[in-house]
Amino acid sequence: MESDLGELGRARFRLVGVFANGFALVALQNGGAVYIVDQHAAHERVRLEMLQAMVHDHLQDLKQCNHLDTECINRCRASSDPMWIDRTLRSRACRGAVPVTRSTRVEELVWIITSLAQCRHPTACAHGRPTMVRLSLSQDPS
Ligand SMILES: [Zn+2]
Repeated sequence: MESDLGELGRARFRLVGVFANGFALVALQNGGAVYIVDQHAAHERVRLEMLQAMVHDHLQDLKQCNHLDTECINRCRASSDPMWIDRTLRSRACRGAVPVTRSTRVEELVWIITSLAQCRHPTACAHGRPTMVRLSLSQDPS
């Protein structure tokens, strides 16, 4: 699975088609497997990890900033409760993702799939829904 995802990340796949306006059928160039990718769940995962990285960088910047007034610092502390941030990012990731069924441009789908393959946790969306199903085309039970 790990190496297959690498193949997806390097765009060594073919977008065979899209059904129900939201599920991409993707074939690895090496013929080893096909994937069914849920465009909404996949985009949600990509957005979540991007948002997490942005917030992380932003909080680092705030910590290094020494010319903020006390009121501002307190407000930032209140809103940097990790549980609150986590909930907010998950819901933002979902709301900004392409809808479950919407026709999506090929370039956008390819970007979502290659970005998904680079995620730290690519197999589920922000709420635990699977982003993809892998079907092996080889004889070996892998
Ligand atoms: Zn969602």
